[in-house]
Amino acid sequence: MAYAGRGMSWKGKVRCCNCGTHAKKLTEQYFAKGEPYKGNYQIVQDRSWQHRDKDGTLITYYSLSLWDGESYTLYAGKFCTNNCAIEWANNLAPDPEE
Ligand SMILES: [Zn+2]
Repeated sequence: MAYAGRGMSWKGKVRCCNCGTHAKKLTEQYFAKGEPYKGNYQIVQDRSWQHRDKDGTLITYYSLSLWDGESYTLYAGKFCTNNCAIEWANNLAPDPEE
């Protein structure tokens, strides 16, 4: 499984605990020369391209973003950004002491 959001992923389109921004799909990258993806993840982005080699043979370079259909991630774990995490923490933390 892909690593993102400080290692946290969620089964569902959760929202940032501070501002409510929706989580993004947690995707994995697939790169392969001439070999289409055969797994059961959904292809959510396809940046594949084709290229002819010296003999004129057409070769496809696959570059895909795959999604398991249920996993989402927020950049900063439970928050969409580090700023959101800090803002949320500052609202709840006690006043600092000497
Ligand atoms: Zn946020």
